[in-house]
Amino acid sequence: MVGKLEGQVAVVTGAARGIGLAIAQRLAHDGALVVMTDVDDGLEEAASQLRDQQLNAQALRLDVTQESSITDVIGRVMAGQGRIDILVNNAGISPKKDGGKFLVEETSTADWGRVLAVNLTGPFLMSREVIPYMRKAGRGRIVNITSQAGRARPEATSGHYSASKAGLTGLSRAMANELGSSGITVNCVAPGAIETPMMANFSAEKRAHYASRAPVGILGQPADIAGAVSFLASDEGRYITGATIDVNGGTFMT
Ligand code: NAD
Repeated sequence: MVGKLEGQVAVVTGAARGIGLAIAQRLAHDGALVVMTDVDDGLEEAASQLRDQQLNAQALRLDVTQESSITDVIGRVMAGQGRIDILVNNAGISPKKDGGKFLVEETSTADWGRVLAVNLTGPFLMSREVIPYMRKAGRGRIVNITSQAGRARPEATSGHYSASKAGLTGLSRAMANELGSSGITVNCVAPGAIETPMMANFSAEKRAHYASRAPVGILGQPADIAGAVSFLASDEGRYITGATIDVNGGTFMT
């Protein structure tokens, strides 16, 4: 059977593990060639595991806070593949203090800047680099991984994280508005509590607490986010732009 993304090229940031890895795996299963990018040393191993499953994946080191790194990698993908159909801005950080959040009054300017640089400026720089190629092609899909913490009461995350994700939602709407007439959609997927390395330092009690808050009674898995991304990235999502799909087990409803 031909996959729904056959022949397409997808770039995924933060793809070495967690949600990014699941997204890369899903888009590759859908038939895309997936360019997996990350700063993590496990990136090549992650891509080689996908290739072992006969999936089309390559690994390129990319720091979303470094303009030169972005220009270099996107240039290499265009030189090699001649197209980028899908960009998934997934890389993100959520610094924790003893497994909990930093209050605003104890957040350093450096930490504020670091979180904004990775979670908000990173997707801006990535999108700015890729948009001209998508415009030229007359088609494109940008999916930004935001968070429930940027849309509802941020119980577990710090102010800088919530602000960065709310900002990314605003940027996504602005881009959706600017790019719709060029055949490019821009949407967000907002995870609730998903079991990834980002949650590694959560206690068993905390995990149980988050699971119990969701009407479905369980924590989410990275594949749950990947399914929503796959839908938005495909032709099935062609009339959806500037939207957020909340994938949170019903913890937050709009
Ligand atoms: P994770 O920490 O497991 O993975 C994040 C990946 O991003 C890592 O591989 C890391 O190396 C990479 N990364 C960090 N800084 C980078 C940089 N400067 N350049 C390139 N890559 C960088 O986290 P996750 O749980 O898989 O989260 C993925 C996304 O989902 C993030 O944007 C996160 O904010 C969002 N999210 C996660 C949850 C959750 O419960 N896990 C909830 C809401 C939103």
